[in-house]
Amino acid sequence: MNSTELLLIGGDRRPALSEQTTDLIDPATGAAWAQVAAAGVEDIEQAVQIADQTHQKGEWRNLNSRDRTHILLRLANLIREQSESLAQLESRNVGKPISQARDEVGLAADCFEYYAGAINKVGGQTIPVAAAGICMTFREPIGVCGLIAPWNFPIAITAWKLAPALAMGNTMVLKPASQTPLTALRLGELALAAGVPAGVLNVVPGSGAIAGDALVRHPLVRKVSFTGSTEIGAQVMRLAADQIKRVTLELGGKSANIVFADADLSKAVPAAMWTVLGNAGQDCCARSRLLLERSIYQEFVERLKDKFLALKLGLPSDQSTEIGTLISVAQRDRVHQYIEIGQSEGARLVCGGEIPTQGPLAAGAYLVPAIFADVKPEMQIAQEEIFGPVICAIPFDTEAEAVAIANNSLYGLSGSVWTRDIGRALRVARGVETGVISVNTGHSVHLEAPFGGIKQSGLGRELGLPVLDHYSELKSVFISTS
Ligand code: NAD
Ligand code: MN
Repeated sequence: MNSTELLLIGGDRRPALSEQTTDLIDPATGAAWAQVAAAGVEDIEQAVQIADQTHQKGEWRNLNSRDRTHILLRLANLIREQSESLAQLESRNVGKPISQARDEVGLAADCFEYYAGAINKVGGQTIPVAAAGICMTFREPIGVCGLIAPWNFPIAITAWKLAPALAMGNTMVLKPASQTPLTALRLGELALAAGVPAGVLNVVPGSGAIAGDALVRHPLVRKVSFTGSTEIGAQVMRLAADQIKRVTLELGGKSANIVFADADLSKAVPAAMWTVLGNAGQDCCARSRLLLERSIYQEFVERLKDKFLALKLGLPSDQSTEIGTLISVAQRDRVHQYIEIGQSEGARLVCGGEIPTQGPLAAGAYLVPAIFADVKPEMQIAQEEIFGPVICAIPFDTEAEAVAIANNSLYGLSGSVWTRDIGRALRVARGVETGVISVNTGHSVHLEAPFGGIKQSGLGRELGLPVLDHYSELKSVFISTS
C-alpha cells in the first residue's frame, strides 16, 4: 500500500484530527490497496469554517467572470492531461472496466468546460415594475455548499456538482463516498493547480453516518447536493428542514425500457442490455424493467440471452473487459439475494445470476449478469432497485398498459421507448412519470440538458443551465428614480 491519502482542507493536505484511516479494498482482488484519512465531526467543523471564511472574504465570488472561466478551463485541461492516471485510479477503485472509466474522466473534463463557458452568459434581468425606478435581479452565490457524492460514477457525478457550484462563485465541502474518495481528492488538487483559491474546494473523505451527517447538520452549510439512496436522501431532507437549508437530491430509480413490436430490434436488443449492464448495473438510470410488446416478447428475450452469454466478464484493468466487478462483495451479495427472491416469487431465470467460484474472478465481487422473464409488475424484483446486472422482462399488450406498468413505481428517474411510430413515441414519452426519457436510444444523459428524478427519485435537477438556479440565490434590487 502507498502512503495515506490525506484530507484536503484550506489548500492543505492533513490527516484526520482523530488520525483515523480507512482501508480501500480492491473489488477485483479483495485486497486492501490504499489507505485514506477518515474525517470525523471535528474535521467537518474545520472544513466548513474554512469554506465559510473563504466565502466571506469573497476572493472567489468577486473574481471577474472571465478569470473564473479561465480557471475552470485550466481545470478541464489538467483533467485531460492526467486522464489516463485518473481513469486507472477510478477503474481500480470502483472495479469498473478501464474503457468505461476513460469515458467518464472525459465527461468530467467536458463538464468543467461547459460551466466555464456558462459563467459570463447567465445573469439577471431588468423588470418593469409598477413604480418609478428600475428593478433588477442578480444571481448571488449561496455560500458554503455541502456536496455528497456516490460511489458508482465518482468522478463524473462529482464534476456535475463541483462545476456549477464553482461557476456560480460558491465555496464547498465535498464528501466523496467512503469507498471511492481517490479521484475526488485528485480533483481537489487539480483545482488548486488551476488557480481555484485555497479554501474554496475542501475534500473530506469519511463515512456517511459520521462525516456526511455532520456536513448536512452544520448550520454554516447553506445548501446540500446529495446523490445516493432514497433512504439517506429522505434523511438529508428531514435534517435540512430544521435550518431551511437548500437541498437537491438525486436518488434511486427503477426505470422502464418500453419496446413496441415495430421497433428496430437490431438496435433495441443491445441497447436493452447496455442500459442496464453499464457499470455492472450500478447505475441509477438503469432501465432495469424491460417492458416488451407480447408479439416480440419471446424472440426479444432469446436474442437478449444470446448477447448476455457472449459478454466478457474480466479484470477491470483489461482493455477488452465489458463487465467488471460490483463495488464490493457486500453489494454483490445484496444483488445475489434478489436472484433468490426473483426465483422464489416465480419469475423465470433465463440466464446468469451465478457468483464465479473458480478462476481469476473468484476473488472479486463479480456476478454473472442475469435476465428474469415472466416478471409480474408487482413482484419485489420489479419494484425494488436492485442496483446490479439484472434485467426484469415484463410482457404487455397495449400502449396504455405499458404506460401503466411503467408508472407503477415509487421512482421516476429515467426510461426509454422504442417504436417507429412518432406519435406513439411522443405520447409514451409524455405519459411516463419520469424526469428523463429517451426515444430509440438508451442514452438520455446529456451534460447540456437537465437531469434528475420525480417521485422518490429526487428533487431538483443537475446538469444543463437549470442547475445553476440550485447553486445561486436570486436577489432583487430596486433603484428609485424619483
Ligand atoms: P448511500 O445513500 O448510502 O450513499 C451515498 C452517499 O451518501 C455516500 O457519500 C455516503 O457516504 C453518504 N451517506 C451515507 N449515509 C449518510 C448520512 N447518514 N448522512 C449523510 N451522508 C450519508 O448510497 P449507496 O447505497 O451507497 O449507493 C447506491 C444508491 O445511490 C442507489 O440507490 C442509487 O440509485 C443511488 N444513486 C443515484 C444517482 C442519481 O443520480 N440519481 C446516482 C448514483 C447513485
Ligand atoms: Mn447506503
